[in-house]
Amino acid sequence: MKKAIIVAKEKFDIQEAPIPKPGFGQVLVKVKAVGLCTMEQRYYNGGVEDYPFHGGHEICGEVVECGEGVAQKLVPGQKIVVASLTRCGECYFCRRGLDHLCENADETHEPGELWGPGGLAEYMLVKSYEVFPVAEDIDETHATLAEPIACVVRSVEKGNLRYGDVAIVQGAGVMGVLHVKLAKLQGAVVVVSEPDAYRRQKALLAGADYAINPLEEDLRAFVKSITEGRGAEACYFTAGGNKAIEEGLRCLVKCGVMVIYGSVRPATPVGFIPNDVHYDEIVITGAIKTSKDSFQKTARMLGSKLIDVSDLVSETYSLKDINKAFERAQAMETYRVVLLFNEDN
Ligand SMILES: [Zn+2]
Ligand SMILES: [Zn+2]
Repeated sequence: MKKAIIVAKEKFDIQEAPIPKPGFGQVLVKVKAVGLCTMEQRYYNGGVEDYPFHGGHEICGEVVECGEGVAQKLVPGQKIVVASLTRCGECYFCRRGLDHLCENADETHEPGELWGPGGLAEYMLVKSYEVFPVAEDIDETHATLAEPIACVVRSVEKGNLRYGDVAIVQGAGVMGVLHVKLAKLQGAVVVVSEPDAYRRQKALLAGADYAINPLEEDLRAFVKSITEGRGAEACYFTAGGNKAIEEGLRCLVKCGVMVIYGSVRPATPVGFIPNDVHYDEIVITGAIKTSKDSFQKTARMLGSKLIDVSDLVSETYSLKDINKAFERAQAMETYRVVLLFNEDN
């Protein structure tokens, strides 16, 4: 089998390795498609230089073989997605039901293996609890979006939306558009704030009710104008830096929730007036990673066609064109670029 390792900035080493055998509680997965997320892009473009790195965490594949001790019923050839995050089950956070914050989560799958989630390979071994079956009729490139959807499920749920609420989504990249889709499923009126015209259009096509350019229009005034002067019940920050977070906080109704989903680089303090939070009981929270619960919900939503992500897969490439795939993944005009593991490798 082949695996693609990032060994230096913009440099892949395609290595040959024997196909592994699943041990106790493990499943051997034949990888079919992997989404190239920001995490992998950061290693590729030299933003993070912890090499060698074996990336690939947005994975759709099929079951090849189960080891002993696999509890769920999986059959060879079955279509699955992989929640590529290990949990120890024994630490403070796991025992508190916050397994996405596991203190011992390790993205290196096997002792002696390279650092990284390891999906950029023709085959991979995963723990059975990382495997979530999906419906057979889902396109495998769309199914790679399971991991980002599962992250956004947690984020959107933290906003406690009720039917008819107004939700702001700041940024309309992949994560922003997923927030739009999931907030719509929660019955919200969605206002997208995004400076790029193409992305605003994308958000509107994905179901946003309004898309405004925060550089030209006052987001707060707009939100007040559609809420009888009160403000939005939730604001989801996915991009735009500190300025966007400060602006989002000023757009909330009393008891509104600010969910900081995206990261800010460089990370510097955000300004807000404590009395605004005190008097208005504003909630500021964040969301990171996936949980067992959010992944299971995602697999079911994809399977029952509650969410369609066909508009988010921009281009697909084979392993032999992996450099091109990473170049395209970083282009402003692409949403997800997916690498396919098929006969053309
Ligand atoms: Zn991802
Ligand atoms: Zn743990």
